[in-house]
Amino acid sequence: MMSTTAAPYPLVDRHGRVATDLRVSLTDRCNLRCQYCMPAEGLEWMPNDEVLSDTELIHLLRIAAEQLGVTSMRFTGGEPLLRKGLPGIVAGTKAISSKIEISLTTNGLGLRHTAKALAEAGLDRINVSLDTLDAATYAAITRRDRLHDVLAGIDAAKAAGLDPVKINAVLLRQHNLSEAPELVRWAMENDLQMRFIEQMPLDAQHRWDRSAMITADETLELLSQHFELTPRDDRGSAPAEQFTIDGGPHIVGIIGSVTRPFCSDCNRVRLTADGQIRNCLFAREESDLRAALRGGATDEEIAQRWASAMFTKLPGHGIDDPGFLQPTRPMSAIGG
Ligand code: SAM
Ligand code: SF4
Repeated sequence: MMSTTAAPYPLVDRHGRVATDLRVSLTDRCNLRCQYCMPAEGLEWMPNDEVLSDTELIHLLRIAAEQLGVTSMRFTGGEPLLRKGLPGIVAGTKAISSKIEISLTTNGLGLRHTAKALAEAGLDRINVSLDTLDAATYAAITRRDRLHDVLAGIDAAKAAGLDPVKINAVLLRQHNLSEAPELVRWAMENDLQMRFIEQMPLDAQHRWDRSAMITADETLELLSQHFELTPRDDRGSAPAEQFTIDGGPHIVGIIGSVTRPFCSDCNRVRLTADGQIRNCLFAREESDLRAALRGGATDEEIAQRWASAMFTKLPGHGIDDPGFLQPTRPMSAIGG
């Protein structure tokens, strides 16, 4: 881990939290249409000229690492594998400092072709999203018949030496809930770390329904009927509560973003593909670094703007507040 003490402008908010983990969205585009994320017809994508170029992006990442104390960066989207030259972006990030921990969240499509290049470029870890092992269920959830492609991608990630490979699943009552124990068993057999994420109100369609969401409690209750789950106490600021399965060594993670929020320990900040800083997934305000960068601001001015964007970070996501409003940007354009 890089030291945060030397940062001239650490990303501290009014509640004393320090952001050291940067989520970087590389594109809002995607080749799947997961029901909990996007409508079947897709979305209106960002125009290319609004998306940060590789050079602009690396410039901002350098400021994050050298001036703001960011020690880990996760590339996401949309689907980050759709970003041309992704291995070059990873290599460019590693060249800023070999101590930056670089990870990727992907749906895995095409990963079989790029996993090796990504690992060689300096990618440290990978999360692949996969909700089911049944091809028909996969096609129903994602609206694309691509399960085989994801499984090949996971194999390629392991073969490339990426470790651990974590698998993210969102459980939906009518599709894959009953499959959760099978997913855990499969993950154990294949040395993967399974994680279940509560569905959040971040879909572009604004169809999220709290009463339909599978809660962390329900997931745990279901898994406990099949496995002996022992809570681990090494969570830190990680969103997943971890449980050892049947005495170990395998573990499963539950991310109860809605019902068991980890906001008080949050160490994250986000950069969208069009260069906006968001201090929270659920933020309703953004700070425009692209305009500053293209307008000729100095690195110091950009760092100050970034640091001051943290002041308005709210103590919690507010989903339970009567006046809660879903952010205007959907998850796919924020970077999940
Ligand atoms: N396309 C990549 C992928 O699917 O892994 C990266 C972006 S995606 C937005 C990142 C993660 O967010 C995925 O694991 C996905 O399952 C999850 N996700 C998307 N919409 C969600 C929602 N409404 N609630 C909870 N998780 C969601
Ligand atoms: Fe694409 Fe990821 Fe959203 Fe699915 S969750 S539609 S793979 S961005």
